[in-house]
Amino acid sequence: MKKLVIASNNPGKLREFQFLLQPLGIEVLTQAQLGIAEAEEPHVTFIENALAKARHVSRLSGLPALADDSGICVEALGGTPGVQSARYAGDNPKSDQKNNEKLLQDMQGVTDRRAHYYCVLVLLRHADDPQPLIVEGEWHGEIAHEERGDGGFGYDPLFWLPELGKMSAELEREQKHAISHRGKALQVLLQRLRPTT
Ligand code: IMP
Repeated sequence: MKKLVIASNNPGKLREFQFLLQPLGIEVLTQAQLGIAEAEEPHVTFIENALAKARHVSRLSGLPALADDSGICVEALGGTPGVQSARYAGDNPKSDQKNNEKLLQDMQGVTDRRAHYYCVLVLLRHADDPQPLIVEGEWHGEIAHEERGDGGFGYDPLFWLPELGKMSAELEREQKHAISHRGKALQVLLQRLRPTT
């Protein structure tokens, strides 16, 4: 594989993917560079949404495509916000602040605060690839009672890591990357892509 298209327009994710994949000699393109609009994400599971995004981009570009889907799942809420994480409090407009406020409200009086971030990455060699490369990562923590920290994004000011005594919004970027759901999934993807010699 010489080229692949990242099925995302999130600048942070694009930088991360380009940085990690270029040493493998893979030219990384973005769907925006190719004028491809974002796919719908109508499904109730992360894997279905990631597959839909990768297939959409691979079909329109004629190239291999890599997509990810991620979110936070709260055990006491049956796994929500889940695939709705980005638009938990509505999507007009999407707001991290409103999502965090809603999560705190929904968790009022809940004693089981366990939650985890989840990320799935899907690589399709072509749009009809019957055997996509699929890797996952999870990151476990708890939902705090109030927000703290100004790093990261999304739910990071509420994601408490008991073993570090910090919120994920209080971690350095590299520290988060080494232990996060997305970081773990990317490491597995790299191992699977590296030629075995
Ligand atoms: P997507 O993978 O871009 O669709 O992201 C889904 C949503 O999950 C984001 O908008 C965030 O709300 C949440 N999320 C995913 N990963 C993280 C993370 O590392 N920190 C905080 N929130 C995250």
